[in-house]
Amino acid sequence: MKTLTILGATGSVGSQALDLVARNPGRWQVDALTANSDASGLAAAALASGARYAAIADPAAYPALKAALAGSPCESAAGPEAICEAARRPSDIVLTAIVGAAGLAPTLAAVERGATLAIANKETLVCAGPVVTSAAKVSGAVLLPVDSEHNAVFQVFDHARPDRIRKIILTASGGPFRCLSRAEMAQVTVADACKHPIWSMGAKISVDSATLMNKGLELIEAHHLFPVGIDRLDVIVHPQSVVHSMVEYIDGSVLAQLGTPDMRIPLAYAMAWPERIATPAARLDLASIARLEFEAPDLARFPALALAWDALRAGGSAPCILNAANEIAVAAFISGQVGFLDIDAIVAATLARVASGPVGSLDEVVEVDAAARAEARQQARERAR
Ligand code: NDP
Repeated sequence: MKTLTILGATGSVGSQALDLVARNPGRWQVDALTANSDASGLAAAALASGARYAAIADPAAYPALKAALAGSPCESAAGPEAICEAARRPSDIVLTAIVGAAGLAPTLAAVERGATLAIANKETLVCAGPVVTSAAKVSGAVLLPVDSEHNAVFQVFDHARPDRIRKIILTASGGPFRCLSRAEMAQVTVADACKHPIWSMGAKISVDSATLMNKGLELIEAHHLFPVGIDRLDVIVHPQSVVHSMVEYIDGSVLAQLGTPDMRIPLAYAMAWPERIATPAARLDLASIARLEFEAPDLARFPALALAWDALRAGGSAPCILNAANEIAVAAFISGQVGFLDIDAIVAATLARVASGPVGSLDEVVEVDAAARAEARQQARERAR
């Protein structure tokens, strides 16, 4: 039996991982679970899974967590350092399913102790890819991608001979506004943006899918997980989301991973790696799907993807600035402060105003992240409705 820690246990990814744990008694012993402020959700998950440690980032939520766990053997703690402590505990697998750059410090804590990580928290690789991958080289940490696209690439990637790879092609569903004009997008609501046509996910990633920033973040994530070179990365829109991504080899063969849109498939692959286990996901029925469509992404209607490409090419702190500005802009959209089209405008303005340069340490990333957030907040205030 392997021990498992889930950072971000109360979210969409975290709860699907716990579903797999409950369906596979004897495979994983849950060691630690964490959340931001959902004390009752965290306590319920800890009690149901027999977790030994539960940590909540928001200290104000600690009394409720402590009360809900009273009488159980599960230890509890609060504050951002308690989340890092959860990551440092010696469990076999750490699933990083926190949303946003808040996942950076705990992810790095797990990497530095040489853990095997199932990484869903893409923002960490986007804002601090070189810091995380260099730390993994030193500690021997193993990084297993959970994002369905990267998990697909991982499954068909020739890890022994990456020189045989010509291209990595990430698929994108196109999101809920794939067929809308910019004028129509100006009218969309938060509920429209969160209504993803294929996947059921947390609010932030749903909005990122609607702007196509999610695909931009994934390009940067792919660059760090599969370092074949920026020019070998590509994106194609595939509305059915059946082909989760592809790898083209030098001989012209293209290998793809297909499946129904259920995160428990990539989660099971990463959590049980190097084994494969059964999942309750619906089976793929290609005859009933009948048609798979592909189209090039429209960068004029979805400039967020172009901004991410530019940030990836610029390198250094540019992806960190992009990510921080996007987190602030998406939060401003979700709270009703700004409109949908303001999201990429805020990101573009922040990238133009915050100077980018090399970043080599966590402290430098944190500093750039803070400067970009301050600028993006100012941009959001100027655009407030
Ligand atoms: P959710 O918003 O559903 O869940 C986020 C989790 O992170 C919750 O447990 C939340 O706790 C916790 N959290 C939020 N802020 C903090 C913080 N400051 N400190 C500590 N914990 C925090 O997100 P998703 O599950 O949708 O996404 C998680 C990550 O996985 C994201 O990076 C996303 O891009 C990626 N991903 C998600 C997919 C999906 O299908 N949902 C698919 C592929 C990747 P609380 O509940 O208390 O707020």
